[in-house]
Amino acid sequence: MVDVVLTTDRTMMTNHHGKEFLGFGTTGVPVIMPERFWFYLFAPRVRTDGDGRPREAPYGLRKIEAALLDAGIDAAIVDPSHLDDAVKGARVIMLSHHDYFGFGPPSSTFATLFEAEPLNARSFRHLMESAPMRDAKKRGVKIIAGGPAAWQWRYREEDRRRWGIDTVVEGEGERIAVDLARRALKGEPLPEWVVMPPNEAPGIDEIPLIKGPAVNGMVEIMRGCPRGCKFCSVTLRPLRHIPLERIEKEILINKRGGLKGTILHSEDVLLYGAKGVKPEGEKVYKVNVVAKRHMKIISWSHLSVAALVYAERNGRWISRIMDEVVLQGGQRFLGVEVGVETGSERLTRLIMPAKAAPYPPEEWRELVIEAAGIMEDNRILPAMTLIAGLPEESEEDVLRTIELVDDLWDFRGLIVPLFFVPMGMLSDRDWFRKHRMSDVHMELLKRCLTHGIRQSKSILKEYFSDSPILSRLISPFLHLFIWEIERYAKKYGFWSEPDTHCILGDAVEGAEPPMVNT
Ligand code: SF4
Repeated sequence: MVDVVLTTDRTMMTNHHGKEFLGFGTTGVPVIMPERFWFYLFAPRVRTDGDGRPREAPYGLRKIEAALLDAGIDAAIVDPSHLDDAVKGARVIMLSHHDYFGFGPPSSTFATLFEAEPLNARSFRHLMESAPMRDAKKRGVKIIAGGPAAWQWRYREEDRRRWGIDTVVEGEGERIAVDLARRALKGEPLPEWVVMPPNEAPGIDEIPLIKGPAVNGMVEIMRGCPRGCKFCSVTLRPLRHIPLERIEKEILINKRGGLKGTILHSEDVLLYGAKGVKPEGEKVYKVNVVAKRHMKIISWSHLSVAALVYAERNGRWISRIMDEVVLQGGQRFLGVEVGVETGSERLTRLIMPAKAAPYPPEEWRELVIEAAGIMEDNRILPAMTLIAGLPEESEEDVLRTIELVDDLWDFRGLIVPLFFVPMGMLSDRDWFRKHRMSDVHMELLKRCLTHGIRQSKSILKEYFSDSPILSRLISPFLHLFIWEIERYAKKYGFWSEPDTHCILGDAVEGAEPPMVNT
């Protein structure tokens, strides 16, 4: 038993079968299949030791755990299914989440379309209403919530009070976590809200090294992003590049924990070590060499279209990194998330003028298409995100985005449309909701769904090619899942291919909409 228990719900405390991409499934609304089947597919339990300590834990929780341990505080991460015993002796519980209430872009898109609570929000609610959490609260245990979704508590004051959350911490938590834990352990009063401003973000030396393996071997290589997109909260944070020696130490911690792959995490992996928005290919090459020295499989969390094109045009760095490093040792592809957001040059200029830098925003579409070609040639398999309902978006802008999807029709990757969520410099704007969707928005969603179903079928085989056992256990169900979605999409008029235009509501006569499982 420890003084401080760090935990979160099942959709976070999972390794998604070692396939980070499957984590997207936890943002969905459990329709078509029963909820337990969604957990089986997208959020299986992780292995734990006898005390309920997970073999892999979310990277953010690992960082806070490390800060507490370095300060001499008795703390441990505990899997939510083992809280019964763990919280009996605890005096503080610390929570973290990417999406406590399903307000993040993917979850809120599903939530508004299906008018139901997404899996991650349900799962977190179940955690907070579970017997161990309620008992802990009755005993006076202090609860502190933080992480990237801390802002969501501002919309859920009632839940915060009902569940007895003593403090919410917004912003990077390493500096404040120790202070709050000490105050709680001494029985001192805690502030209800702590907002860590960007100028108080920890310096590189204040960011502790993780003490145990992170989910899917994640290792942070950089914090912040210089592009300044108006809808993004990351952009407000200062830029920090983590030195190679520290990166290697964390990779080794993951390796010693039994992991064979790593996810290099940055808002733009290709800007690692760069002074501005022009990648320095050699530094990106080196960080991948270090990762490959210890790990069989490398993934990147995010990359930007413009950096990818620049790096390839100036020194063929993408081809070199992929051929000479990443694809060595039997790795078949590299997964990554890529923010495309819009196909409209006009909107690019207005909302994310530096997204195309060092190229002008007018070239955005061409850059995206060129990037898709570079990725396809180099076996990079991306999930490209789009944003629907951006402020100042016109119907013409959405049509340009649909045209871009059509241009990418045969491109191997997923295109994921998300509804605008007010964040960053646009945090005072309105959420984009279903009732504000126009016919062209619906067409965009249908087009992306059709593209996704088509591509998923061919990607799945490759996606599990490095793990034959997992392939036998999981991929038949995923095929069934995709097949069911296709059947529903066709039945309810959500199937849309280039040069076709389905009109809203042209579902098969007499058909019932899919049911939400409870
Ligand atoms: S490029 Fe990505 S991380 Fe950077 S500011 Fe834009 S949306 Fe945010």
